[in-house]
Amino acid sequence: MTAMTAWTVASIRSALQAKTISARELASEFFSRIERRNPALNAYLTLSPERAYAQAERIDAAIAKGETLPPLAGVPVAIKDVISTRGLRTTCASKMLENYIPPYDATAVERLDQAGAVFLGKTNCDEFAMGGSNENSAYGPVHNPVALDRVPGGSSGGSAAAVAAGLAVAALGTDTGGSIRQPASFCGVTGVMPTYGRVSRYGLVAFASSLDKIGPFATNAADAAAVLGVIAGHDGNDSTAAAVPVPDYLAATSKPVEGLRIGVPGDYFGPGLDLEVKEKVQAAIALLEQLGCRRIVLQMPHTDYAIATYYILATAEASSNLARYDGVRYGLRVPGSTLTQMYRQTRERGFGPEVKRRIMLGTYVLSAGYYDAYYLRAQRVRSLIARDFTDAFQKVDAIVTPTAPTPAFRLGEKLSDPLQMYLADIYTVTGSLAGVPGISIPCGKTKAGLPVSMQVFAPPFSEGTLFQLARAYESGTLGA
Ligand code: GLN
Repeated sequence: MTAMTAWTVASIRSALQAKTISARELASEFFSRIERRNPALNAYLTLSPERAYAQAERIDAAIAKGETLPPLAGVPVAIKDVISTRGLRTTCASKMLENYIPPYDATAVERLDQAGAVFLGKTNCDEFAMGGSNENSAYGPVHNPVALDRVPGGSSGGSAAAVAAGLAVAALGTDTGGSIRQPASFCGVTGVMPTYGRVSRYGLVAFASSLDKIGPFATNAADAAAVLGVIAGHDGNDSTAAAVPVPDYLAATSKPVEGLRIGVPGDYFGPGLDLEVKEKVQAAIALLEQLGCRRIVLQMPHTDYAIATYYILATAEASSNLARYDGVRYGLRVPGSTLTQMYRQTRERGFGPEVKRRIMLGTYVLSAGYYDAYYLRAQRVRSLIARDFTDAFQKVDAIVTPTAPTPAFRLGEKLSDPLQMYLADIYTVTGSLAGVPGISIPCGKTKAGLPVSMQVFAPPFSEGTLFQLARAYESGTLGA
């Protein structure tokens, strides 16, 4: 077995069944890869060999007894460090939760466990998932495995980098305004933001509750489909997890795309879009047309307002969610001579600069004098953006756009200018506000070798269409 076999969910299953490798050997292969590569990447914050080997042994025992294997048997996965894992440090890449050890597994994690996955560890991210470059981590940035001087994107940068570098077969990330799709694009892997309510957030540390979603990263559409199929579905512990049946996403990957209507909104191809990215995405759309899709030109007139709307609503919700870190119940406590001083010092030392900026912005837009002018207005514009999607889906089955306006930028390049960083979210935040599912699909590389991706949106709970298009595109380009 070569050190860098590109394992997939399916190839692991057949290798385990053929007994050419055991789940334990596979886990050990991944830990050696991590040992070699992680020091340069900083993708993992915490490793979990004990749990991984226990899970692997369970699978090996099942194989020995000839039992039917669960859907993700032996698949080595990584979990973003904002998702709770029982007995395993969950820091949110913040000093605030440096030593926090959750007493329970998030529902998505528990479902992966039951599906036979092997947990390698917890991945680095922007602090509390706030950022688009992974440079806001209290534990140092992640380096893009494709070009080490570049960012992996964010906030789920560690999960994207781990999958891209072959340090996990799949990973969980979270997407509030683009945090799965944009790092997937920067690292050249597949990333899925499910419909709002598709995957339980029980055990996810909240950032902006009306926008947060958990979703998978993988190297291909079928693997992402397999993981989503496991984690999706109703959950009594999360009232926002919809009681909508989970279709067979893997089956969707083999459906022909002929006749699908794909909308291409001119509003996503205007100024600010890198020319090479534009060319690649247009070429990808042309390929989908060759495969039988029908291109329909669309207008989504409220796209221009999405960044402002998102950064008002997300910061407002963040300021409220993060009020719980007061040094009293869990997390960091910096003692002071009075209660107020304790609160102040805890929050001063526990939070990094971007988190503080968002708490201040969010508190401002919610304050009595500005609520109507900012928060309320943003809520109204959110409805208009959602309506752009509803109208579009009257005419098309899916919408295709670039995922990000540029390929991965250099570490440090946008750090001094938060607004520039926010503007890079232009194509992802629209779908987040509308609550529709989206996927980022690699569609080539720039001349400098940097990955480029297209983004596809579908109507709520139509993730199957995303996998169908993603797989068709993969087959079209790889001849597979
Ligand atoms: N880049 C966006 C932000 O900084 C998205 C973050 C996310 O999806 N968690 O808010």
